[in-house]
Amino acid sequence: MTPRQADVLVIGAGQAGLAAGYYLRRAKADFVILDAQDRPGGAWRHAWPSLRLFSPAQYSSLPGRMMPRPAGGGYPSAADTVGYLTDYAQRYALPVIRPAKVHAVRRSGARLQVETDAGVWRPRVVISATGTWWRPYVPYYPGIGHFNGRQLHTAGYDGPGSFRGRKVVVVGGGNSAAQILAELSTVAETTWVTRRPPRLLPDEVDGKALFDLATRRHRAVLAGEPAPGIGDLGDIVAVPAVREARDRDALKAEPMFSRITPEGVTWSDGTALRCDVIVWCTGFRPALGHLAPLRLRGTDGIIPTRGTRATAEPRLHLLGYGDWTGPASATLIGAARTARDAVTEVMAQLYTDRAQTVP
Ligand code: FAD
Repeated sequence: MTPRQADVLVIGAGQAGLAAGYYLRRAKADFVILDAQDRPGGAWRHAWPSLRLFSPAQYSSLPGRMMPRPAGGGYPSAADTVGYLTDYAQRYALPVIRPAKVHAVRRSGARLQVETDAGVWRPRVVISATGTWWRPYVPYYPGIGHFNGRQLHTAGYDGPGSFRGRKVVVVGGGNSAAQILAELSTVAETTWVTRRPPRLLPDEVDGKALFDLATRRHRAVLAGEPAPGIGDLGDIVAVPAVREARDRDALKAEPMFSRITPEGVTWSDGTALRCDVIVWCTGFRPALGHLAPLRLRGTDGIIPTRGTRATAEPRLHLLGYGDWTGPASATLIGAARTARDAVTEVMAQLYTDRAQTVP
């Protein structure tokens, strides 16, 4: 089959890929976006129904178009975000091909070769924006394979229905754990375990403040100055459901257990707790499997970048994933700025390539 051509191929049509698409469209680039899912919305399509963004709509927007305020007020839900992303791709007529999973990106002469469900492509530049939802992370604890109850990760949580009256251990000290615990504690007997005492942000601090801090931090790192720590502020945004749980004392955390038994969990001092379910709210890792043939991953599992560009492969940019690709680049508000910087660099790169190939 003849390889398909485009100057830029974006992998992933979640918020990061769409933000890149917006700037590519504005720059009149020749580009295409491939997405593995058959419907729009990226990871938000899979989030649990009660999930609330930790920023109001006006601070959760992609370039060009504000996210509408939710009909009933408050913070937008995952479904609101899916609706927003669906509308966004249509409004800017972004050329998304789906379902089209990318299996491998390889070097092939002057271009990269991208093997996908929608054929083989040979772009000049690849922007990878595949997110993290697809690689849930569960840490190892002795006995984890012998628990007789149910274990699930944040990625598999779809609401409290099946937990009514159960004894549930929720693991993790972040926003997912706090929101899921807040909900489960209304129907189940919950125990929260965290590696260090969880720290709720002050009620007035939301995603906007976190974004500002991430930006200051990024600038300080670039300038070689002491960087303000994000963790200095706290970890968990006090969205209304979390505040409500805090106010009824449902957010008390225990230290991490040391072992899992067939009946439950035990701590190193011998304390044992029987439970029916363990919910692992222990985060995600970047979904970079399609880039494996390029052999770019460092020992920490991420690809070294300068800005968004892979240091060892200048034709590859990475968007989203985490702060290592730009300040707060894995959030809605942060995706915009990172995508703008990436596309500026990509367009300069294409221009230089062309100039060099002109006889
Ligand atoms: P994704 O949304 O995961 O999109 C990636 C796309 O790539 C998907 O559509 C997928 O189908 C596609 N894809 C993956 N692999 C391939 C492949 N090999 N080939 C083709 N396509 C592929 N951010 C905020 O701003 N505010 C919040 O309140 C907030 N709350 C969060 C709560 C939770 C529980 C989590 C997990 C995250 C939250 N985030 C929040 C962070 C962030 O906004 C999301 O993680 C966001 O979905 C990341 O967007 P993305 O575009 O990078 O990745």
